[in-house]
Amino acid sequence: MERKTFLKYLSILPFTGLAMNIKDFVNNVDQKEYHQKMPLLFIGHGNPMNAITDNIYRKEWEVIAKKITQPTAILCISAHWLTKGTFVTMAENPVTIHDFGGFPEELFQQQYPAKGAVNYAKMTIENVTSTVVHEDFEWGLDHGAWSVLKAMYPLATIPVYQMSIDYTKPAQYHFNLAKELSFLRTKGVLIVGSGNVVHNLGRLSMNGKPLDWAIEFDTFVKKNIDDNTPENLVDYTKLGALASMAHPSNEHYLPLIYTLGLRDKTDTMMYFTESFDLGSISMRSVLFS
Ligand code: ZN
Repeated sequence: MERKTFLKYLSILPFTGLAMNIKDFVNNVDQKEYHQKMPLLFIGHGNPMNAITDNIYRKEWEVIAKKITQPTAILCISAHWLTKGTFVTMAENPVTIHDFGGFPEELFQQQYPAKGAVNYAKMTIENVTSTVVHEDFEWGLDHGAWSVLKAMYPLATIPVYQMSIDYTKPAQYHFNLAKELSFLRTKGVLIVGSGNVVHNLGRLSMNGKPLDWAIEFDTFVKKNIDDNTPENLVDYTKLGALASMAHPSNEHYLPLIYTLGLRDKTDTMMYFTESFDLGSISMRSVLFS
């Protein structure tokens, strides 16, 4: 029962000995809400301009946020925060980072004034045991995070923190680390991986037609998500030239590995924004819930 529904019923009940246990009962209801497992998202963010232009991706991000339970906090693992070692943001008021160049001034004016989620960042540090998660007080919210969250939660009322991608580590490290983050799903935290299933900026196609190899890699990813065989996606470099073509560098791929590491076998699955931008950027996104 929702807390507000319970309180509504309470207001119409005769006020007898029940009063003594109201506090305990309400606390139990709250406890139940916290134990509800939050969904998981991988979002293909693509071009930063998606944040301010009228486009199908942004519209879908708005829609998906309305479909899922309102989180108490958001953890974003973005392709755009690469570090040596794994860090979480500890800033109480994270700055909006405009980590791109050559775009219109309007994009640089964008702000996403969400509060940080310091308590959840600390909880993350305390619960991960396979590696040391470090505190970071400098990083704010990069465009992999805010360009998507601005569409999903435009009021910026939900606290957000980021976890960096240790770029010295193989995909298996990220997959294993993700499993240790799964407890956050029962704490009301929405974990968003933000990258792209295919991302090759050197091969953009101005006519927008998806390139054959981009379709092939995207299909490979989809099949392995469908079959729940993430080991093939962790070991994606065995595809050789196709893997290098889809990801000349793999920072946009690794956020997907986090999402798959967090996936629970009981999760249902739904794809959205299944198309290509500029021929070589797969915008495929997936919701597990
Ligand atoms: Zn990006």
